[in-house]
Amino acid sequence: MHKEDQPLIFELSTEGRIGYSLPEMDVPETDLSELLPEGYLREEEPELPEVSELDIMRHYTALSKRNHGVDSGFYPLGSCTMKYNPKINENVARFNGFAHLHPLQDESSVQGALELMYDLQEHLIEITGMDEVTLQPAAGAHGEWTGLMMIRAYHEANGDTKRTKVIVPDSAHGTNPASATVAGFETVTVKSNENGLVDLEDLRRVVGEDTAALMLTNPNTLGLFEENILEMAEIVHGAGGKLYYDGANLNAVLSKARPGDMGFDVVHLNLHKTFTGPHGGGGPGSGPVGVKADLIPYLPKPVLVKKGGQYEFDYDRPQSIGRVKPYYGNFGINVRAYTYIRTMGPDGLKAVTEYAVLNANYMMRRLAPFFDLPFDRHCKHEFVLSGKRQKKLGVRTLDIAKRLLDFGYHPPTIYFPLNVEECIMIEPTETESKETLDSFVDAMIQIAKEAEENPEIVQEAPHTTVIGRLDETMAARKPVLRYQKQ
Ligand SMILES: *Cc1c(COP(=O)(O)O)cnc(C)c1O
Repeated sequence: MHKEDQPLIFELSTEGRIGYSLPEMDVPETDLSELLPEGYLREEEPELPEVSELDIMRHYTALSKRNHGVDSGFYPLGSCTMKYNPKINENVARFNGFAHLHPLQDESSVQGALELMYDLQEHLIEITGMDEVTLQPAAGAHGEWTGLMMIRAYHEANGDTKRTKVIVPDSAHGTNPASATVAGFETVTVKSNENGLVDLEDLRRVVGEDTAALMLTNPNTLGLFEENILEMAEIVHGAGGKLYYDGANLNAVLSKARPGDMGFDVVHLNLHKTFTGPHGGGGPGSGPVGVKADLIPYLPKPVLVKKGGQYEFDYDRPQSIGRVKPYYGNFGINVRAYTYIRTMGPDGLKAVTEYAVLNANYMMRRLAPFFDLPFDRHCKHEFVLSGKRQKKLGVRTLDIAKRLLDFGYHPPTIYFPLNVEECIMIEPTETESKETLDSFVDAMIQIAKEAEENPEIVQEAPHTTVIGRLDETMAARKPVLRYQKQ
């Protein structure tokens, strides 16, 4: 499948060529077998490539140029909010006073960093309408689990141990049922109606004395605002359950609406999505969790507090669910989010939402004549199309996604949410120009025409990339293949 033969780093290897220089060892060598149990010791030397420093630089630089990122091209991956990450965030995160701190330093010597964390918490409290925020969780899913563990602790403290179920809509992000399961709950699915919103009748049917919480994204993963949210909150609260807001993506409500005002008790945010932390390479995230007053006792500890103008960590929290991460969260990502919030200001954040929603509606309307539009109403920051019409011509949504690579675009999210057949989920974000949106739409329209006139060109795509179609199952099941010397 390699169309161009860039050798593997192992193939560049020449015995004895090294990429480092170290002084002669002047301490006695340690016998590892004295330190590690026998079962953990290698039996053979690892097979490492032997290359010079320059060769290794060129190798990885060449690979990086084949990659697609927000800085190299449009990346409309629905639900992932691949917006531009302002470079000023990087500058601030690299300030010596932030980048060179040690997590075990005495609190008195890191007051500036603690002030930043405290202020960030205050901003997030204001943005979400909650009463307190923790910055500990390292990502969205981690935030979900943390929030659910707090809900669990809350019910248990009330002696309410029958609440074993978490209700999740069928359009939910996959992490929702996964987090509920890991937190020890059973998940119950609530159906969407023909408008793509939670079916209230079905919600009334599944809610009960065993309901611990309802987890919801609003706008939901179809990009539609759950306009009955206040009624849903009443139904769930009326049965004694809590409302969990999956705020991974706040791009449609930022500075416009607040989960706290919609009736939610717990919310997590993905600072690496809405608040411009770089993501997508599996890098560090930050998934702060906000709670209403009655859940504050269960927050992970330590809790950052301000006493007489000084910041310190409070460990004396007897009802806390405990620590959920070593140290205090992914500080560097929190610095970036703080920088973003401060550089944008309230008006800037409002503009984010307005442009994100405008861009999505603009693209949706331009694409609607060429693809099926399962929910024909205003969307929020993202929208879904269905490739049903193209499927009848023998072109699947996967083919359309692969063909987009030939035009230099990262494909949208596909086959998710699961309740839409041949789903194509597009999230343009606010940072793209009209010209970029138009060129992407033009490419999609051309692909729709190709599906009618020349389906093979789509079915066999991509034609211009270094690697053709991947075996995606194998790539997911066996992400690392061992190199075998020929
Ligand atoms: C991205 C996302 C998550 C998961 O966030 P991670 O940081 O990847 O764990 C959860 N819910 C929604 C709606 C998301 O878009």
